[in-house]
Order: sequence, then structure tokens, then C-alpha cells
Amino acid sequence: MTALAEILHRRIAAEGPMSIAEYMTLCLLHPVHGYYTTRDPLGADGDFTTAPEISQMFGELIGLSLAQSWIDQGRPDFVLAELGPGRGTLMNDATRAMGAVPGMLEAAQIYLVEASPTLRARQAEVLGGMSPIWVDSLADLPEAPLWLVANEFFDALPIRQFLRAGEGWAERVVGQSDGHLAFGLTEPAPVAALAHLVPSTPEGTLIETCSPAQGVAAELGRRIAQHGGAALIIDYGDNGSAGNTFQAVRAHEKVSALAQPGQADLTAHVDFCALAQAAPCAHTALVPQGVFLETLGITQRARRLAQGLAGPALEAHIAAHRRLTHPSEMGSLFKVLGFVPEGAPVPPGLLAADLRER
Ligand code: SAH
Repeated sequence: MTALAEILHRRIAAEGPMSIAEYMTLCLLHPVHGYYTTRDPLGADGDFTTAPEISQMFGELIGLSLAQSWIDQGRPDFVLAELGPGRGTLMNDATRAMGAVPGMLEAAQIYLVEASPTLRARQAEVLGGMSPIWVDSLADLPEAPLWLVANEFFDALPIRQFLRAGEGWAERVVGQSDGHLAFGLTEPAPVAALAHLVPSTPEGTLIETCSPAQGVAAELGRRIAQHGGAALIIDYGDNGSAGNTFQAVRAHEKVSALAQPGQADLTAHVDFCALAQAAPCAHTALVPQGVFLETLGITQRARRLAQGLAGPALEAHIAAHRRLTHPSEMGSLFKVLGFVPEGAPVPPGLLAADLRER
């Protein structure tokens, strides 16, 4: 049994079953044994790969979309921030592209919102030359115009699961059975935040909620509405809750979410509609990642980069383009949502929309 599994068993024995949110938080961010605390999951023998690690084109195009948005809003001095920057690759590629825009990097102070000391060290190796400032949460950023990107950050935030039962909801929790961690259900009870869903939700339906994600979206939206800026949120998910999407991945394979606490990545689909509704600023339509990247010209960029490549490197480059954009790969599972101030042009690659009017 891992050290973290022992801690979880003792906690459950003493206090009873815990919510999935509590389980996720301990597994991912326990200060000594947490998954992100102890490792670089994106490294050479890591557990999963993300879009910026697949190709430099991803970060470059995001950098240029943010750059156009910054120009559109009058080129202010600003905070350039990333939530959960991983290995620092996206920010590195984005700022290299922004370097082509006169005055942009000079106007920027980079902030990295990162919980993991291991990944902070890795980010320092890649981005140290730009003197970024690390913070624990969005609330620690200065009050200033803010251009921000978050790729696969929201899917790591802790979710709770509720099953529609009787007049209320039974929460899916983590307890123990025969010495193993096991899922269980609480007695059904009313849940204030879900009361409006009771009439329209059939008995037995599973709903996921992520109040930390809504909290981050609310803070992000307040800053963008108040000071100007834009946010690009990229993740896997859709509008609405999609049933049970809680999953664990280790060594690029799905594994049981309870079998190896602290040793596997834990994520859930992002409910983009909940993010848009929580943010007190304008937001764009939800656009599939493939459409976003094609609109920004990834194919032209890919052709340009291909000119300098041959053999296996060229094949890998072509495969990377396909992986980022093709609907059967990351192209439609991953989506992009933008936040902008009311009335501001939307960042290139996205379309204006107001989901709240639907
Ligand atoms: N954006 C990167 C990494 C994605 S992995 C990429 O696309 O490659 C998730 C990232 O979010 C990691 O850097 C992880 O340490 C960070 N993270 C997860 N939960 C966090 C939290 N609550 N606060 C700050 N960072 C968090």
C-alpha cells in the first residue's frame, strides 16, 4: 500500500467516507505524497501528453491570438498569466511568437499560477530568463489588465458527484470495503446548489459539479471585466455535465481511480457552460480545438515548419498536426472558450456568442 493510501484509509476510518473532491485534492496535491507535488507527469517517461508538448505550433498560435487581442484593446501594460503551466512549454512558445509584436513583451509581467514545487522548478528552467513570478492562486495576481491561458488546468480541479435520488441527491463518496478504497453513496438529501435541477433530472442521473472551477472563472471574469484583457481556456469537456467522467490515467493508460492514489493523474470533463455562467464578463462561443487551430492558420504554419524537416522528424511533425486538429484525436474532444470584456473583439480563432441567451 502506498503512503498516501495509508493516510486515506486512516482518514476514512476516523472521519467516514470523503467526497470525490477531497479524494482528488489529496491525491493530486498532498504536500508530501501528491501526484503533482512529487513528479513531472509530462516528462519523458510521464503519464500523459498535452497539446503544447505535442507541437510548438499550439503555443505559438495561442500567443498570436492573445497578441491580437492585446493590440485590439490598446496595448496596455499587462499581466501575462498561465494557470497550471506544466513544463512551461506553452508559455515559452507563446512568448516566442509574441516577440514578433513590437512592444508586447516589454509591456508584460509574466505570472505563473502553479501548485506543484516540482513543476515550478521545471518552469524556472525554461522561463527563468523572463523573470516570471509564481503565485498559488489567481487572487494573488495584481489588479491590472490580464491576458491569460489555461490548458488542461480546469480538468484537474476537484469535482463532486451527485446521483438524483428521491427528493434530493445521494453523493458518491470514497470509503473503504474489505481493506480497499471503494465508492459508496451517502443517504439522499437536498443539495441547495442543485435544487433547480431536481424537476428536470430523471431519478438515477449522475451530475458532476466543480465549484472551484466556477470560483476561478468568477475571479477571472471579474478581472477581465474590470481591467480589460482576455482568457483562453482549453480543455476536454463540453457544455453541461456529461455523467460520470471521473478518470485516472497512468503511463498513458486508463486505470482505476481508487487503485493507486497519488500515482495516477485524476481528471474530469470540464463543464464550459458552468464556467461561462460564473464569469461576470462576455464570453465567446465554445469552439472545438481543431476549428480554433485551423482558423488561426495551423496548416500554413505546419507547411512552413515542414520545409526544414525530412524523414522521421517530418513524419512526427505531420502526425502532431493531425493529433492536435483531427476530430478523431484531440480536435473535437478538446474545446476552447474565451473571456473578454463586454463589447471587446474576441481573440482570433474564436467566435462571439452569448451562451446566457440560449
Ligand atoms: N498546462 C500544462 C499542464 C497541464 S497539467 C500543459 O498543457 O502541458 C495540470 C497543471 O495544473 C500542472 O501544472 C499542475 O501542477 C497544475 N495544477 C493542478 N491543480 C492546480 C491547482 N489547484 N492550483 C495550481 N496549479 C494546479
